[in-house]
Amino acid sequence: MRTLIITEHDGQHLNAQVARAITAAQHWQQPVDVFIAASHTETLAAQAAALQGVSQVLVATDAALQHATAEHLAALIVPLAANYSVVLAAHSAFSKDLLPRVAALLDVNMLSDVLEILNANTYVRGMYAGNVLATVQSSDAKQVLTVRGSKFAAAATGTSAATQTVTVPAAPQGSRWVAEAFNTSERPPLAAAKVVVSGGRALGSADAFTQVLAPLADKLHAAIGASRAAVDAGFAPNDLQVGQTGVVVAPELYIAVGISGAIQHAYGMKDSKVVVAINQDPDAPIFKIADYGLVADLFEAIPQLTAAL
Ligand code: FAD
Repeated sequence: MRTLIITEHDGQHLNAQVARAITAAQHWQQPVDVFIAASHTETLAAQAAALQGVSQVLVATDAALQHATAEHLAALIVPLAANYSVVLAAHSAFSKDLLPRVAALLDVNMLSDVLEILNANTYVRGMYAGNVLATVQSSDAKQVLTVRGSKFAAAATGTSAATQTVTVPAAPQGSRWVAEAFNTSERPPLAAAKVVVSGGRALGSADAFTQVLAPLADKLHAAIGASRAAVDAGFAPNDLQVGQTGVVVAPELYIAVGISGAIQHAYGMKDSKVVVAINQDPDAPIFKIADYGLVADLFEAIPQLTAAL
C-alpha cells in the first residue's frame, strides 16, 4: 500500500508545511505520493516532485479547481483513496475542512493534529489545549490524519519524482466558492514568521499595537500576533490570534508582551524555539514556559527595548 499526501497551496507555491507532512509520512515505510489539485499544476507539481521522499505526484488540473471547495476536493480524493492505506495532510484550517469530510465518505475515523507517530496506527495527540497527551490507536484499515507540521522536519529538496494525471469529476452541487478577502501586510505571514511579537489585553488599545508593539516588530522583521483577549477587545484583527482557536506558530523567537499565558494561548506558541515574556506580574503563567522573562511594565520596557535594538 501507499501513503497519499494532500497538499495546500496558493496556486503558485506549495504551503511550507507540505514538506513536513512528507517527513511524517515516511513512518509507514511505503511509497509516498503527493496530490495537487489546481487550475494550473505545472509549477506546483515541479515543487512537489523535487521533495525527497516523494514517489509520485498526482495532479488534478481543471479551471474549476482554482477555488476548489472541500466538497469538490473530497470527490476527487475518495476514489483515489482505494489505492492508499494512509491519507495525510499537515494540520491547518484547509485540512480541518477537508479531511473529516474525506474520512466520513470513507467511513473511517479521522485523527487530527497528530504530534507523534508511534507505529502504523498509533499516535500521540494533544487534548485539553495540549495539557494532556493522549496515545490513541485506530483500528481502521485506512488511516486518515493531519499532523502538526512543527513536530516534523521539512523534507529536503533535490530529487525528481514522476507526475501522473488524475481525472477531475464535475464539481458537486450544493456549495460554491463566492469570494475571498486577504489582509495585505508588509510583515511576514504569522504562521511562517521566524520572529513573532504578540500582544495581550494589557496593550489596552489598537493604538498601542501600532505605536508600541509595531516598532519592536519592525526592528525584528517580525510578524505581529495577539491573544484572544486582545482580539476580542478589538485591539487586533482576528487573523492575528495565536492559540488553540487561532494560529499555531513555532518561530525561532516568540515575544509575549502583556500576555498571561493561559493554556489556550500556550497551545499556539509553546513549540517556539525561544520564548521571551514581558509581564508586570511575576506569577504570570507565561513565565513557566518562557526561556527569558522580564517583570516590567510593557509601556516602559518595550520602547526601551526597541530603542536599544
Ligand atoms: P489576560 O489574561 O488578561 O492577561 C493580561 C496580562 O497582562 C496579565 O498577565 C497581566 O499581569 C499583564 N499586564 C497587565 N498590564 C501590564 C503592563 N502594563 N505591562 C506588562 N504586563 C501587564 N486565548 C488565546 O490567546 N488564544 C486562543 O486561541 C484562545 N482560545 C480559547 C478557546 C477557548 C475555548 C477558551 C475558553 C479560551 C480561549 N482563549 C484563547 C482565552 C484564554 O483563556 C485567555 O483568556 C486569554 O489568552 C487571555 O489573554 P491575555 O493573556 O491577553 O489577557
